[in-house]
Amino acid sequence: MPRTIIVSNRLPLRAELHENGYQFKASEGGLATGLGSIYREGDNVWLGWPGKEFKDNQEQKQVRKELAKANMAPVFLNQDDLDGYYLGFSNQTLWPAFHYFVQYITYNEEQWEAYVRVNQKFADAILELADPNCRIWIHDYQLMLVPKMLRDKMPEASIGYFQHIPFPSYEVFRMLPWRKELLEGVLGSDFLGFHTYDDMRHFLSCVHRLTDYEYRSNTISVNGRHVEADALPMGIDYAKYAEQARDPETLAIVDKYRKAIGNQRVILSVDRLDYSKGIPDRLTAFRKFLEQNPAYHGKVSLILIVVPSRHRVPSYGRLKDDVDELVGKINGYFSDMNWQPIHYFYRSFSLPELSAFYVMSDVAMITPIRDGMNLVCKEYIASRTQRDGVLILSEMAGSAKELSESILVNPNDQKTLTQSIGQALELSKEEMGRRMAIMQETLQNYNIFHWVNFFTENLDRVKAEQAKMH
Ligand code: UDP
Repeated sequence: MPRTIIVSNRLPLRAELHENGYQFKASEGGLATGLGSIYREGDNVWLGWPGKEFKDNQEQKQVRKELAKANMAPVFLNQDDLDGYYLGFSNQTLWPAFHYFVQYITYNEEQWEAYVRVNQKFADAILELADPNCRIWIHDYQLMLVPKMLRDKMPEASIGYFQHIPFPSYEVFRMLPWRKELLEGVLGSDFLGFHTYDDMRHFLSCVHRLTDYEYRSNTISVNGRHVEADALPMGIDYAKYAEQARDPETLAIVDKYRKAIGNQRVILSVDRLDYSKGIPDRLTAFRKFLEQNPAYHGKVSLILIVVPSRHRVPSYGRLKDDVDELVGKINGYFSDMNWQPIHYFYRSFSLPELSAFYVMSDVAMITPIRDGMNLVCKEYIASRTQRDGVLILSEMAGSAKELSESILVNPNDQKTLTQSIGQALELSKEEMGRRMAIMQETLQNYNIFHWVNFFTENLDRVKAEQAKMH
């Protein structure tokens, strides 16, 4: 297997300061689990920002040494880099544009320049580690320019790019003043992966409209180089979530939570605080459901988990206020001494705690306005080891393409959203079992390890085809 360099904005770890300097604790996100089997092997490496600013030279040396033990390498970023490239261009331009929130797009030349500068920092760091035969896999929208920056220096390199967020339609993408540079940037890759077929089609249509490259089906000829794009929905570590759901630690937490909340029905909502997640619309639907169904008062509660995110971006701060206000109003209006309709948590939970929420919830209500994939809904399905429970899922999540046995809703359709709650609570055991069995089989087969293999096999295949053409 060729030597592989994985590259993402952030390394999958947390920095902790100890007496002898910084130490790093792995943070096991979905991507880190899936890629663990690759970057920990031999002299493979995962390159990214270590999550904190390290100014001092001595300190940077120590961090580099610590990370090397875990097959990782740092790209050091300063506060200016982070403000312009991460909080700025990535999260105030690309994120809203690619999630179709055009009203939130910032068009700021300085932030673009920071994005170019930091992408170059990443490319330079990769070039220091790379050799001509290695495989380089770049992740996500923060690094769209890196593939071309590498290609210019290493024409023969094997470069893959995966986009974890949606790719918007040409009508939105064309709004960006830097649209051509962004496209040329990712086209430095040999193989490009998207979560859904529609994302891939949108990308190809942008290539068609904005460049002179010839393309047929899902292949593009970039200055004579054969490039392919494909849809590869990312999966989860299914066995991990199923096992965690049966773990005594999880079951003890379920017990504790149940004692606190009583035996009413539970609806679960879990997201980062993000306008793309549709939290206010979901709360409004729950309020309307309670208004229309007094028989459910005292019998159902919503557990609302909101994970803090990007609080320095102004639109996120306003959203937090909106959510706080809605929760306050609903609880203030409907609560009685024995019942509170919403249990609201503004923080993140550990895996056993999250698993306990998945296990104890009759319904998971995951209704983003737009989401590249959404892993929470997949984790909920994998945790339902008794094959009961119901998923209400937004059509606008990439995962809806695979989970058509859920109750699919248009998150902008308040009436249907409200009705879906009653429908979910009243679904028969048989029907739940039938739907769960189908969805569980899909997620078991198309798990994260399958996704990693599928991507790397495709990248290798495209490289082999290029070689044959010469
Ligand atoms: N998550 C977590 N702790 C929490 C809530 C969520 O670790 O308290 C994890 C969850 O298990 C999932 C991820 O955060 O793997 C969220 O991924 P998703 O694709 O659903 O949304 P994103 O935040 O990437 O937009």
